[in-house]
Amino acid sequence: MIDGSILIGQGTRRSEESFRAYDPATGAVVGPGFSIASTQDVADACALAADAAEAFGSLGPTVRAAFIEAVADAITAIGDVLIETAMAETGLPRARLEGERGRTIGQLQLSASVVRQGDWLDATLDSALPERVPPRPALRRMNRPVGPAAVFGASNFPLAFSVAGGDTASAFAAGCPVVVKGHSAHPGTGELVARAVQKAVAACGLPEGVFSYLPGKSHELGAALVADPRIKAVGFTGSRGGGLHLVDIARKRKEPIPVYAEMSSVNPVIILPGALAGRGIELAGAFSSSLTLGAGQFCTNPGTIVAVDGPALDIFVGAAADALAGVEPATMLNSGIAEAYREGVAALDRNPAVERASDIHGASHNRCAPALFDTTAEAYVRDASIREEVFGSAAIVVRCRDLAEVAATVSAMEGQLTATIHMDDGDMEAAQALSPLLADKVGRLVNGWPTGVEVTHAMVHGGPFPATSDTRSTSVGPLAIARFLRPVCFQNLPEEMLPPALRDGNPWRLSRRIDGELRAPAVATQPNA
Ligand code: NAP
Repeated sequence: MIDGSILIGQGTRRSEESFRAYDPATGAVVGPGFSIASTQDVADACALAADAAEAFGSLGPTVRAAFIEAVADAITAIGDVLIETAMAETGLPRARLEGERGRTIGQLQLSASVVRQGDWLDATLDSALPERVPPRPALRRMNRPVGPAAVFGASNFPLAFSVAGGDTASAFAAGCPVVVKGHSAHPGTGELVARAVQKAVAACGLPEGVFSYLPGKSHELGAALVADPRIKAVGFTGSRGGGLHLVDIARKRKEPIPVYAEMSSVNPVIILPGALAGRGIELAGAFSSSLTLGAGQFCTNPGTIVAVDGPALDIFVGAAADALAGVEPATMLNSGIAEAYREGVAALDRNPAVERASDIHGASHNRCAPALFDTTAEAYVRDASIREEVFGSAAIVVRCRDLAEVAATVSAMEGQLTATIHMDDGDMEAAQALSPLLADKVGRLVNGWPTGVEVTHAMVHGGPFPATSDTRSTSVGPLAIARFLRPVCFQNLPEEMLPPALRDGNPWRLSRRIDGELRAPAVATQPNA
């Protein structure tokens, strides 16, 4: 089932040159040679996507939802070979990948149900006021897909943030054809999922350009995709350097386009004095588990602990170091990420204002040991290098003199995906004071641990720069559809020229805002188109 092909619409192609995938645990080659998509392949995929955009974008909610469900079913049908391939290419364990597959399928099913509900169309009708002076025309507004989207698969979620992950599900939900640049570290996994999507497109009788998959290991490929004038929006999860490069390309195009890049976050955890004194050892154990989950390669892993200095913090740090000492070094996703982790840990080790707080032991090849460091708030605020993300299971404890210094530490931080506050009853006043400051910095403020990201309506997985390049959106949950939509107003158009969502008879049976009032559809007589 995996032969290293490029998938353009319903076609497959091979390149002369190829690249290999490696098992990060052993270094062994996995799978065949994988094709490297060329700039011609990019152009062909984008041309097909542009051809498909109008037909796909104007499908009724029921038909598009059925397609998204067909993608979910096709991924399920791949079976265990998907898990085995992903295990071999990423070093992630079976249970984690099975859970991630469930999440990927669940995301697609949730997107389909949201498409059916139709709220995302935001159908809004303002009646004409012919008697008014001057007369007001009839105005009707709805959301439309922006057009073909480019999606970059993420290394750390080979299923849920990759070929048919959250960005692809959201773009399909909005009605945008998708061209995926596969991540070069899991090309076999990517191809299996891409073939499943390709099959779903054919089974649903959709135009072939709805989906294409471009494998490759070259920045030129990703750059050409973002630069292609037919691409209208980009979803990306990865490094800050990569994300910013793509943002730059998108901004300098003749027609600039939005790039939704998720890049880096240290996810600060504030432990307030009551919680630290009352539950320090318990919190240390839970922190160790959250930090080392998935070898620390969750974008929400807690990389910075902020607390008021004193004996209770010493006890917390000691207990956290003990807990981390019991965690075996874990295989990281690929040699590049393992090398970046080692360099990040070494840079903290070299910094005279930073001390090692845990024993770092047993690392070998791509297996990296967890690491805990200790510094002062003064050093943390002064030295930006201490505030940088070390992607993996490394964290730093920031010791503050008092709560004012906790606030100053938070103020010095860049934008984050999450921040966490641990508090007990006596901490409420301090927590309330910090909460607006933290909310300014993050996409999600947590009471607990940040590493679980629920796929639900209220979830926000985003945040101010550099957590993401566009603070107004989320990559997880139905709100992500908004990335791939734009509002269009139709003024005084005759009924026959209006899209179904805005017609008088409400044929798609949507809830619509009419003259400022939200109205449910009339009782069902027939299902949505
Ligand atoms: P990456 O190196 O940025 O690669 C992600 C994707 O973007 C790959 O497809 C890559 O292509 C492409 N790409 C990267 N730089 C590019 C450029 N300058 N121009 C065009 N395309 C480019 O990210 P990664 O491999 O996932 O992991 C590396 C680092 O990303 C980690 O160490 C970590 O710091 C960060 N990361 C952060 C998060 C987060 O959410 N905070 C999540 C995952 C990773 P190739 O495959 O061809 O190289």
